[in-house]
Amino acid sequence: MTVRVATLGFPRIGTRRELKTALEQYWAGHSSVDDLLSTAASLRASAWQRQKDLGAEIIPSNDFSLYDHVLDTSAMVGAVPPIYGNVRDKVDLGTYFAMARGSQTTSEACGCGHAHGAPQDVPAAEMTKWFDTNYHYLVPQFIADQTFRLASTKAVDEYREAKALGIETRPVLLGPVSFLLLGKCDGPAFDRLDLLPVLLPVYERVLKALRTEGVDWVQIDEPSLVLDLPGHAAAAFKTTYNTLTAAVPDLKLMLATYFGALGDNQDIALSLPVHGLHVDLVRAPEQLASILEKARPDLLLSLGVVDGRNIWKADLNVLLDNLEPLVRQRDLILAPSCSLLHTPIDLERETDLDADVKSWLAFAVQKIEELHTLARALNEGRDVVQATLAENAAALQARRSSAKINDPAVQARSADRNPALAQRLSPFPARRPLQQSKLRLPLYPTTTIGSFPQTPEVRKARADHARGELSSEAYEVFLQEETARTIRWQEEIDLDVLVHGEFERNDMVQYFGEQLSGFAFTKHAWVQSYGSRYVRPPIIFGDVSRPKAMTVEWWEYAQSLTNRPVKGMLTGPVTILNWSFVRDDQPRSETCRQIAFAIRDEVCDLEKARCGIVQIDEAALREGLPLRRADWQSYLDWAVESFRISASGVQDATQIHTHMCYSEFNDIIAAIGAMDADVISIETARSRMELLDAFAAYRYPAEIGPGVYDIHSPRVPSVEEMVDLLRAASKAISPDALWVNPDCGLKTRKWPETKAALLNMVAAAHYMRP
Ligand code: GLN
Ligand code: ZN
Repeated sequence: MTVRVATLGFPRIGTRRELKTALEQYWAGHSSVDDLLSTAASLRASAWQRQKDLGAEIIPSNDFSLYDHVLDTSAMVGAVPPIYGNVRDKVDLGTYFAMARGSQTTSEACGCGHAHGAPQDVPAAEMTKWFDTNYHYLVPQFIADQTFRLASTKAVDEYREAKALGIETRPVLLGPVSFLLLGKCDGPAFDRLDLLPVLLPVYERVLKALRTEGVDWVQIDEPSLVLDLPGHAAAAFKTTYNTLTAAVPDLKLMLATYFGALGDNQDIALSLPVHGLHVDLVRAPEQLASILEKARPDLLLSLGVVDGRNIWKADLNVLLDNLEPLVRQRDLILAPSCSLLHTPIDLERETDLDADVKSWLAFAVQKIEELHTLARALNEGRDVVQATLAENAAALQARRSSAKINDPAVQARSADRNPALAQRLSPFPARRPLQQSKLRLPLYPTTTIGSFPQTPEVRKARADHARGELSSEAYEVFLQEETARTIRWQEEIDLDVLVHGEFERNDMVQYFGEQLSGFAFTKHAWVQSYGSRYVRPPIIFGDVSRPKAMTVEWWEYAQSLTNRPVKGMLTGPVTILNWSFVRDDQPRSETCRQIAFAIRDEVCDLEKARCGIVQIDEAALREGLPLRRADWQSYLDWAVESFRISASGVQDATQIHTHMCYSEFNDIIAAIGAMDADVISIETARSRMELLDAFAAYRYPAEIGPGVYDIHSPRVPSVEEMVDLLRAASKAISPDALWVNPDCGLKTRKWPETKAALLNMVAAAHYMRP
């Protein structure tokens, strides 16, 4: 039997972030459509050639996207909400980017490039996380009498383009059921799956067109098969795949699932009349046995054996031990667990990375090499790749025993399961009066979430310093001046609890990771977050500890300038974990616990320096929720415990804040309560305080700072508007438990709007005070 290597998708951004540059130049009006499209074409061409050269035999097309593959799918089926105009023909680039990013059109377009008449703002479509990744997609929007039509030939075009380069590809489509489930209803809710009968004809047309081009196999992604599905989803899948396979009988479909186990959807997946099934064996290796047992003998299995979500080398020898018996029984495809979109492209570019750490890693390119090695060993015997296998075994062995990973002191500390470690000295009602008499804050105390505008000057100083063009002394002085100015200004406008402004921080996770042991940073390992925004997540490779205080000096400096309390600002353990590439050789919960102890040390040092209020941000706690509801509680248990460990080393009179910038709390409110923070600030402005109901219903015992204005827009809210919101808040929550603050940090804003908005915010708080 034979084994072939497939990839399900390759990063689009280019090894040198060419796509970002091309997009941003185009958006800024500095380059033409042709420039953009030719960069895109050359990125596709090199991705195809690269994968081929690396030994991939089944290479995807239509995995590329100028912005987002879900948006591409909306464009393909003509799902364009009317606010983007009445698109009758193909969805053009202008409409596509308007959906992606919003646009400012003018009511009187005259072609001279100037705006006449009132600009009309068209907001971008809503964006949300793609499953449990840090990739964000644009949410398709449907109306109850939604119609669809073929409005993009991208899939066919890109197939042809590859073919013209001599590369046969397997086009990728997001499957119709997942597409509908990932969308949302515009207006009154209805069952999105009811739209299948009108959607499927468009998919049929696309599949027929591909078949006409000579396509043999199409990869059709239905990742929603790893989720908890509504009861009638089984029927929806059946109808869909019966319809599609009947419509294009000589086209083969590889149904791709990833990000978890099929679980209770396994029978559905195996009953569909598709020709192949891809399963994620990294997240869910245990599902292989029952899939092998139940799969039709002619169902081509594609095994996701190499982690598409992380950056560690696979254990090739162990994989071969498991795969060899299977290959005797059936043909197989070996693939990464999911699209390689979620990994950086090429490890070889990391010339500054610690050599040991580097020897433990594999990025997209290296993962395809791993698959190629596995396939050769299975097809021709291990001997032909003996040296590679030996090298792989040696690297993994070195990793396991490396002193860089293993810190006995950290392991011992983390092994201490004394529950008192995760417990404040007294419960909140006893802490509260101590904090009140120490802080003496007015009713409706005002504060901000931490960062102040990271102006071009701040970014330039940081970049100059990183390049060695600005001395450390000069950089330090610059940051001090920024901080001092910010403190002075906060006093002037009469904020009650001040912050230092976070000017010294590049990023709320990286800043801490760079000072903690067990973290590595890359130079080029960018991963797409959304559109042209890429992130370079830290790599947590070893036991985590904090060699020395990370934030105390900046806090001390800021506090030395004022008599008002300055909050200490930290990023919490769960957020640091969720925004990093995490080691795969121990449970995530264990890594989180280690980070928690490191943050705890920082909290204690701040307290020792006489800091009375410490904020521990957990912006990413909610996004770490597992895909399956049944797994939520255990995640929340260890996540909350980690937060509590970080927060519980202090005296009762020290006030612990936390901050979460999202607005869905209903389903996790008990966990939020269990965090036992003294004050929580949350995002509420856009939901107009509705979410406070969840806190009220739960009888949330501590204090709350519901964001009174949306920091995502430069718009300056009026005093009245914020008074209204505070009045609404004071109906749900007792006024003596309310704080007044924006929704989130102000780093992305400019100073003028920040100043105007905060002035109004303080005025609103003053107005509310008796
Ligand atoms: N303290 C951080 C800031 O203000 C919090 C950012 C966040 O929640 N995303 O920037
Ligand atoms: Zn926030």
